[in-house]
Amino acid sequence: MNCFKCKENLIEKKVNYVVNLEETIIIIKGVPAKVCPKCGEQYFDDETSRNIEKIVNQLKQLAIEVTIVNYMDRVA
Ligand SMILES: [Zn+2]
Repeated sequence: MNCFKCKENLIEKKVNYVVNLEETIIIIKGVPAKVCPKCGEQYFDDETSRNIEKIVNQLKQLAIEVTIVNYMDRVA
């Protein structure tokens, strides 16, 4: 798989996914992604995207100012 922007080969990496919402900031640590070494663009597969969405939906209801969770803890 290549970067859509610069066609660079993507490398598999664990990243921190940050969501900035009006009421809360959610940080999900250790999310498996494919990252472009050139421009830093991050790509997630379908399953990971669904998991991220699920985690965010759960956490934003808590309305804590900053929430930091581990991806692996949430999907296990
Ligand atoms: Zn790129």
